[in-house]
Parts: sequence; structure tokens; C-alpha cells
Amino acid sequence: MKLTVIGCGYLGATHAACMAELGHDVLGVDTDADKVARLKVGDTPFFEPGLSDVLRRNLSAGRLQFTTDVREAAAFASVHFLGVGTPQQRRGYGVDLGYVEAAVDALTPLLRGDHLVIGKSTVPVGTAAALAQRMAVLTAPGSRIELAWSPEFLREGFAVEDTLEPDRLVLGTDPDTAESTAEQIVTEIYCDILSTGVPFIRTDWATAELVKVSANAFLATKISFINAVSEICEAVGADVSTLADAIGHDKRIGRRFLNAGLGFGGGCLPKDIRGFIARADEVGATQSLRFLREVDAINTRRRTAMVDLVAHACGGDVLGANIAVLGAAFKPESDDVRDSPALNVAGQLALRGASVTVFDPKASQNSQRMYPMLAYATSAAEACEQADAVVVATEWAEFVHMAPEEISDVVRGRVIIDGRRCLDPQTWRDAGWRYHAIGGPMRA
Ligand code: NAD
Repeated sequence: MKLTVIGCGYLGATHAACMAELGHDVLGVDTDADKVARLKVGDTPFFEPGLSDVLRRNLSAGRLQFTTDVREAAAFASVHFLGVGTPQQRRGYGVDLGYVEAAVDALTPLLRGDHLVIGKSTVPVGTAAALAQRMAVLTAPGSRIELAWSPEFLREGFAVEDTLEPDRLVLGTDPDTAESTAEQIVTEIYCDILSTGVPFIRTDWATAELVKVSANAFLATKISFINAVSEICEAVGADVSTLADAIGHDKRIGRRFLNAGLGFGGGCLPKDIRGFIARADEVGATQSLRFLREVDAINTRRRTAMVDLVAHACGGDVLGANIAVLGAAFKPESDDVRDSPALNVAGQLALRGASVTVFDPKASQNSQRMYPMLAYATSAAEACEQADAVVVATEWAEFVHMAPEEISDVVRGRVIIDGRRCLDPQTWRDAGWRYHAIGGPMRA
């Protein structure tokens, strides 16, 4: 089939490449000319394991193209995925739908004949209904445009795998139309995936929109739950990691997303729960999601708690101390620094008067753009030179498996603060280091 993908960021570029991998002819559209120029030559504008292979393979096969010109998209296909950004508004918790509206406003008047637009961006409930009305006004006479919503659940770091082997597909359509062709078209697009038995949930727009934000709210709640429990563990000297293992054995609970530490960040969970809270307010259900404010607050508190712990480890104050921060991405296997807990901690330490040097295997460039006031190193060992304390803020495998000997001789003080509870405390203590973990003691 011929498809377009409007918006080629983390979601859209991956989606475009993976749709081509499924055998479709795909045109990716983005307003960012630099991004498009890079994608055209098979250069991924962000780090995502495995994506460049899929991208290059499908560019060479002639199944994948990119453009900045939405007119090309309108002429290229009759099915259009929408994957533009939906960030948090500058003022307030609500979602900025400006990019989605602009994309729809640009595409709709250009479409002739029958078209299907499938929203994949994460949006507040009610967005599809409002966009459909907006599109109806802009639709050329004689043309028919259907809008469906199929939220995306991919995880950065596993984006290709998650797109090609999703846990489920969700498709929301207009509950008031009897003439939807979306299900048939989506079944055709995803036939190779659906044939593997992937659950396919067909529903209405509102439910589909809510599925996505509810899933993220649940995951955020699970992380903040264990972080709240870790505060109790810290107060009484209990080990939250052992506790998480123990409760995680219960199949009803499960061990995943129960890692106490610096908490969540990135371009999705924080803004999605805030957008959900804002939407609940708007529909008169403020009470229902009040707990999500606490989920958010617990999460934000982790960052300050981490800075306090570093200060404590440095003898009460970081003023004048050299601190190495290992990790800047919001999670490993990604170069995404949007709302990154690691960078937030690095920034707070600098504000308290520390000299902070950051190293991240993939996210240094993005970090430099966002936090130019920090120093950046090209290796963990370089970041640790003359450090009074070393902070592990993102659990990249190279930090988790780093031997103390790799940095013991370059630091000024053998003090390590584990913000992800991902190191083996005994290994570090045996090498003569003082080991601290956020969330309380860790039994070796
Ligand atoms: P992103 O910022 O990486 O990408 C958005 C892209 O849209 C940018 O490249 C931007 O230039 C482009 N764009 C903006 N306006 C445009 C327009 N009018 N026409 C064409 N392109 C336009 O964001 P992202 O992380 O890919 O997220 C996109 C959406 O997907 C969001 O709603 C997000 O919540 C959702 N989502 C993201 C992930 C993830 O892991 N990143 C996972 C699931 C869902």
C-alpha cells in the first residue's frame, strides 16, 4: 500500500521506516528541512538502536522517501499517519495541540477523493472529534476524509521492535459513522503483524485516546509508587530493591517498572500525565485524577532528593565540588533529553555551586543544546577526572558494568552515588569507594 507519515520525529521516522519494512511504499513528511535531509540519506536524526538499518534498507529498496512538502503527501497516497509532537503547553499542564492542528490544516484542503487520516500522536480525549470537525470545514467539495486514531505505544530504545511486534493495536473510529473503512484499511496495512496473533482492539475515538494516556498514567503511577515506598525504606533502613523483587514476584503486580531511583522523564510520561490531569479538569472530573498530581510530585521530588544525597555524600555541600554526572539521556539506549531527570540533577548541582562534568554515550550533543552551562566529557573516565563525587544518573550498560578500577585513579574522592540503584555496592566498597544509593541502603 502507499502511505504517508506526517511528522518524522522519534515516533514518525520509526513508523515510516517500519511501514516500509512491512512492504509498503512510504513517504515521510516533516517541516524540519535538516531532519528530512538526514533521513533522505539514511542518517537517523536521533539515536535509536536498529533504526538506521531499517531506514537504509528501505531507502535502497526504493520503498521509503522523505519530503518537506505536504503537497507531495496529498498526491502520494490516500492513507496518512499523523505523528507530530504534542508537547506540554508552555503555561499550564494542558497539551499543545498546535502541531497537530497545523498538520491537519495543511493536509486536509489538498486531499482529493477518499482519504484516511490515522492519528498516532498522543492526544487528550476529545481531540479526534474536534479535529474531525475542523477537517470537515477544510475538506474539498466531493472529497471524503475519514479520521481514525491509533495511539502508539513504542518505547524509545526499542522503537523498531515495538513497532513491528507491538503488544496490541488499538484503532478508534467515529462512533457516529456507519461508513468507516478504517478497520479494513488498517487490517490490510498491518496484516503481517496481525497474522502473528497481535490483539487488535477496535473502539471509538475517545476510548482509543484514553487507552494511551491511561497506559502511561499507570506506568508512571507504578514508578512513583515504588519511589514513595523507597522514601519509607530510606526512613527505616529497609531495602527497597529487595522489597520490589519480593512484591514483583506476585504475578498480579509484576517486577517491571518497580525500580526505585531517580524516577521517570522523557518526552512522554511527564507531559502525558499532566495532559491527562488537565483534561480531567476540563471535563469536570478533577477529583478522579487527583492522585496523578501526587504521582507527578513524588517523581519531581526524587530529583531534589538526589541532589540532597549528593550534597550529603560530599559532606553537606556541593559548593566548589567537582561532580561527574554519568548519564544525561532520560533513559539508556536513547539520546532523548526531554525532561531528563539526569540533566535536571546535573543542572541543580551546578546551581548549588558544583563544577559539573557530564558524560553520556549518546546524548551529549542534545544535552549541550539544552544545558550549555555544563561541561561535557567524551568518556566516563574523562568526566571523572579530579571528581569529588561520581553520580550515576542514567543506567547505561557501560556504567552498570564499569569496574571501579576504570576510574579509581582519576578521581579526587572515591564517592559514588547511584541514582538508579543499578550498581553492585559491594564491588564498589571492596574497591575502597563510599557507595550511596537513592532510596536507601542497598544490600549487596
Ligand atoms: P518529536 O518531537 O521527536 O517529533 C515530532 C516531529 O513532528 C518533529 O520532527 C517535527 O518537526 C514534526 N512536525 C511538527 N509539525 C509538523 C507539521 N505540521 N508537519 C510535519 N511535521 C511536523 O516527537 P515524538 O517523540 O516523535 O512524538 C510525537 C508524538 O508521538 C507525540 O504525541 C508523542 O506523545 C507520541 N509518542 C511518542 C513516543 C516516543 O517514545 N517518542 C511514543 C509513543 C507516542
